[in-house]
Amino acid sequence: MERKFPKKLKRVVVKVGSSLLATHLMKPHEASLRSLVAQICDLRDKGIDVVLVSSGAIALGLGALNEKVRPSDTPSLQAAAAIGQALLMQLYCDYFKARGRACAQILLTWEDFADRTRFNNARNTLDVLLERGAIPIINENDTISTDEIKFGDNDKLSALVAALVHADLLIMLSDVDGLYKKEDGKLTELFKEIRTITEEIEGAAGGAKNKNVSKGGMTAKIQAVKIASSADVPCIIANGQAENVIRRIVLDREPLGTYFFEKEEKLLMRKHWIIFVAKPKGTVTVDDGAKKALLKGNVSLLLPGIARYEGVFKAGDVVIVEDTKGNAIARGITNYSVSDLVKISDKKSKREFIHLDDLVITA
Ligand code: GLU
Repeated sequence: MERKFPKKLKRVVVKVGSSLLATHLMKPHEASLRSLVAQICDLRDKGIDVVLVSSGAIALGLGALNEKVRPSDTPSLQAAAAIGQALLMQLYCDYFKARGRACAQILLTWEDFADRTRFNNARNTLDVLLERGAIPIINENDTISTDEIKFGDNDKLSALVAALVHADLLIMLSDVDGLYKKEDGKLTELFKEIRTITEEIEGAAGGAKNKNVSKGGMTAKIQAVKIASSADVPCIIANGQAENVIRRIVLDREPLGTYFFEKEEKLLMRKHWIIFVAKPKGTVTVDDGAKKALLKGNVSLLLPGIARYEGVFKAGDVVIVEDTKGNAIARGITNYSVSDLVKISDKKSKREFIHLDDLVITA
């Protein structure tokens, strides 16, 4: 049976992790790389835009240095990435060139998504590359950022990219077939389709299989799915070792892997940014009355509801809203800086600390 997608697949983001690109000795997995490039070119030849989010820099860098074990200190990982990124791009360029295609390197950090100007610059560059038929290859800029080194092997980055380019599908290639049900601690059957990420789904996810070659694993992928699907991008987690997996998913519509529907209730771009992209600069604790009102919905957070605040934030920054027990219940853009709050003498003033339109309930 063919898989049905909500939209025609005109633009696809493919994320490939280190474990598919590097061998256990952390040398390039040439057969995998070659097959990946061939499949991307096949899609491209059919007029489908493809953005590749590729890890592998650290693993290949370690291999080039003949290191057998992944170091635990960040500067060594960043140095390895600087070596490996060049090797990785050299291989991609050669393979794409052999198919008559140009490829481009784009290194991004989380801050690039949080800053409007940089975000627009990245999107404009990507648009032109895709228009010209080139293949953008994105990795985290590991020299100056460590988000994916620590948490996700580019899973989150791929979701942010999928949102940035308004992809019709994000395919995350892994070294397992998808997400499996967990019963009594054992993995049983593969989830074919998931509409909502429940606690059971989150519980079924685990960390990376080969921690020497990559970070990440299913937990990071599920977090990435949440980011992408709230931006209207459906996701598939599939086994990158399966023959021609990308071609079969996109061109043949084979129902491979685990398919996550995009959310029925989409977040507006601004709210998506508040939850997933902006880095919170502080935390405000609200009293029980304000919590109740916020959870009921459709209200702004007013100054009298704030019991305490922490952090150094200014007007326009994103802050986390917590209840008195320390549970995060919302996020939003403040209208006041810390120094404004100190100065306000009328603590009962009903002024809006976070306007309704800038507030997202996360509880
Ligand atoms: N950006 C990193 C890389 O390409 C992430 C992978 C990792 O942490 O191993 O190597």
